[in-house]
Amino acid sequence: MHLSYLLQGLLELVYPPRRACPLCGSQTSKGEICPHCLQWVRRHGSGPVCPVCGRFINLPSVEPCNHGRHPCPICASQAPAFNAARAVGPYEGVLRDAILHLKSKGTRRVAAALGELAAEVVHREPAFAAAELIIPVPLAPRRLARRGFNQAQLLALELGNLLELPVDTKAVAKVRETKPQIGLSRYERERNLIDAFAVITPETIHGKRILLIDDVLTTGATMDNISIKLRRHQPSTILALTAAGGKSGVSFV
Ligand SMILES: [Zn+2]
Ligand SMILES: [Zn+2]
Repeated sequence: MHLSYLLQGLLELVYPPRRACPLCGSQTSKGEICPHCLQWVRRHGSGPVCPVCGRFINLPSVEPCNHGRHPCPICASQAPAFNAARAVGPYEGVLRDAILHLKSKGTRRVAAALGELAAEVVHREPAFAAAELIIPVPLAPRRLARRGFNQAQLLALELGNLLELPVDTKAVAKVRETKPQIGLSRYERERNLIDAFAVITPETIHGKRILLIDDVLTTGATMDNISIKLRRHQPSTILALTAAGGKSGVSFV
């Protein structure tokens, strides 16, 4: 665990933060997620999703016979290397704001709230509930040093705590710095990630049901790339969970 993260926890004990919703900042009695945010997540996060990549399906654009039962066009054209992905909700509204906050500040309360919501997704998806080992998507060492924390790792640690699962932050490393994925086409994103990730401890992967954690799943190229590397070491299953996911047919970055 990063030192500044631990210090933040200690500081919060000495100087308790304002009792505010960790997602939107509105006043709440105990600093819990406010009813408005909970309702937003329940409404937006519970719609039909692609059973493979977990993209939220825009209902009006979906044929009545395909309410989350068949893979989305992207998964139908090329199945990803992970077994399934799910997200707390789409990357918009309060969820997007909270993730941007977590990414820029590494605030523990925000990580804890998103971890709590991610744990709910795990509990309602039997395959995810059977996971044995949590692995956060790593950052390249230089970027980690610049930022001081890895938001995927913060999320993974909160989730590991809630689910009582081990979190392996050393199993996969980002061995090459890559260009930001934003603004790249799907093809360019895949090319951008070639040999960016490496499995460091293959012995921890073999036969395991792995839960990969990241803040956002956009095209799924990062999760797919790591999963290709993990597959070489015969895990039992690879599941991907993010605080926010994409919408089928909508490109948001
Ligand atoms: Zn709120
Ligand atoms: Zn899909």
